[in-house]
Amino acid sequence: MGGLVFLDLDRLDLADIHDPQRLAKAVHRQIGPLCCAVPVDEIALKLGITEIRQEELDGCEGVLLTDRVRSAGKILVNTGRGPQAARFGIAHELGHFLLERHVLGLSGAFTCSLTDMRETRTARQHERQEGEANAFAIGLLVPDNQLLPFLKEQPEISSAVTMRSSLNISLEAAARCLVDRHAEPIAAVWTKGGKIRYAVRGKSFPWITRSTGDRVSSLSQTSRALGMAKSGTTTMREVPAAAWTSADIPELFEQVRVGKDGHTLTLLWATLPDRGAQDDEED
Ligand SMILES: [Zn+2]
Repeated sequence: MGGLVFLDLDRLDLADIHDPQRLAKAVHRQIGPLCCAVPVDEIALKLGITEIRQEELDGCEGVLLTDRVRSAGKILVNTGRGPQAARFGIAHELGHFLLERHVLGLSGAFTCSLTDMRETRTARQHERQEGEANAFAIGLLVPDNQLLPFLKEQPEISSAVTMRSSLNISLEAAARCLVDRHAEPIAAVWTKGGKIRYAVRGKSFPWITRSTGDRVSSLSQTSRALGMAKSGTTTMREVPAAAWTSADIPELFEQVRVGKDGHTLTLLWATLPDRGAQDDEED
């Protein structure tokens, strides 16, 4: 596994933390600054997980076997979507393990689907728990000291690509993390065969009018890039806002990365109306 032998973690210090981001930060405080990918297996094994199995699974992404008081736990994760998704799965299940208020399923285990691994909602118990496990996983796999340099730069797909290799996380996780934490109003959209798979928005980004299964607008740079049938990443360019949203915004910029397999990742960057300036003009 090639982990860091000096890693010394104390689970007692983490026992009363119920906020997933604070919990991830507390783990990193114990470890100290890292300059490379986070050794998630070793962290899990130091914190009470006794076994991690990685196998190709059908129909679920990860399972945590444990008991109500978390005396010990075993993690099983799917390798079918690649090693980086498996690392995310381990971090996600470790989140369920450490967040002791998370309630086990009827089978006495957490069984997590692909939808669960993307959950961000906070309303119902199941979705809230999955959203918290994901927030913990991102906080654990992307330490603040390694994320901050990217948040100071203009939003760019290349940031997500660099994060993917330096942190050994998926491009999807890296892009979601950027969208979530960047101060600029940005959003990311994943498509396949010209149809939207799903989208994530930063807090200040306006609604994306199009939803899962919809074809991308012919006004979008994504549609144009797909038409050229070449893989690669475009520059960030202005597009008509109507390509993605019906919100009344002054400008919308779009950059797209076309993969070899018909998958694209689109980054959207909005300019929001400056309320103060508008009022001045009207006076
Ligand atoms: Zn889960």
